[in-house]
Amino acid sequence: MPGYNLNNVKTNNRYEIIQKIYQNVDINRNHITREMGLTNSAVTKIINSLINEKYISEKNYLSAIRNRRARYLSICEGSFGVITLYFGRHGITAAIADICGKIIYSRDYTITYSMMDEVILNEIVDETVKNVSGGLSCLGCIGVTPGIRSDGEAAGDTEALQEKSQAPYFWDMQKLDAILKDKYHIPLFTENDSNIALLGEKWFGKGKNTDNFVLYNIGRGIGSSVCIQGKLLRGYHNSSIEIGHVTINFEGPDCDCGNRGCLELYTGMDNWEKKLEDIPKYAGQQNRLEALFLNARQGDNESRRLFDQYARMIAEGALILATMFSPEKIIVTTNEADFFHLPPIIEIVKKEINTRTFSTRRQKICVEDSDLRKTGYILGGIALVLEKQLFAA
Ligand SMILES: [Zn+2]
Repeated sequence: MPGYNLNNVKTNNRYEIIQKIYQNVDINRNHITREMGLTNSAVTKIINSLINEKYISEKNYLSAIRNRRARYLSICEGSFGVITLYFGRHGITAAIADICGKIIYSRDYTITYSMMDEVILNEIVDETVKNVSGGLSCLGCIGVTPGIRSDGEAAGDTEALQEKSQAPYFWDMQKLDAILKDKYHIPLFTENDSNIALLGEKWFGKGKNTDNFVLYNIGRGIGSSVCIQGKLLRGYHNSSIEIGHVTINFEGPDCDCGNRGCLELYTGMDNWEKKLEDIPKYAGQQNRLEALFLNARQGDNESRRLFDQYARMIAEGALILATMFSPEKIIVTTNEADFFHLPPIIEIVKKEINTRTFSTRRQKICVEDSDLRKTGYILGGIALVLEKQLFAA
């Protein structure tokens, strides 16, 4: 149907234009017209509607980057906000961000899935929505979960999901959807944590200038997400790239996911905490992995050897991702482990990639640590809500 296709093109152009404004400081109408190969009138029409709708603004100033005075486009501040509710393994983070990327509210709740009920969920939503202030209009809420699958929009088939997966792979998004809709008329979208972190990197972080990169998420669990030709790769079931649940040992121990011998069993933080319990130096200590990182940095030989072992297991996941997706860049991030100092891990990942991947690729893969880390979820939420709102326009 031609009409349908034409609408799609329009919304795609809107989305691409706003994405360009996020990714380029001091961009103007002429740059957009040139880069997108659209006519002046098409760009004018879209830009004017985005300005009228208060997504973007246009100001006249002297650009330090371009060293010239002109009218430049930027994301509107103080118009729209996005709520992110991150349901982690050991807690919930509630946050609000202005679409320009400013985080205006963030609160961590130490609560596990088993403690959650409708009353608590209501309280968290009420408290969060109360903080959408300063004239911001809320575009939507993103429910983020670490796990096997996400729906990309308000969750359905809850019972089937619950039957197969337990928290943290499943949180009851239907209840959350009902609370947000009935009380506040706020739409809910759900997404996997690695996918949302990748969108955060693509729009606000080190993924801004590349269309082919992998986000490698290490911490309690091990996850990843892939951007190919500028698009987040979502599988048939809207899942992320579950690198942590790739079998690396067919005879290995059972994993929570129902498989056995998964990479996560050898690289996940919780599993390393257990492993260190058997090492006399660490047995009985609290926060054993944190202590191991510290001791390794201070030059203790045994800790250094264990740290190298840990980082090489992390590198194994990066090698699989590098070989499978041939990315320009691998961005390593961590979410639930604030103490993680990433550069020494990245050095080992780089060394293994340089030694073990195909020679034609190895020099071309750049490995970097994320500047965003936990805030990647909150910023990625902005990208996802805009995608939904602007495509649906
Ligand atoms: Zn598994």
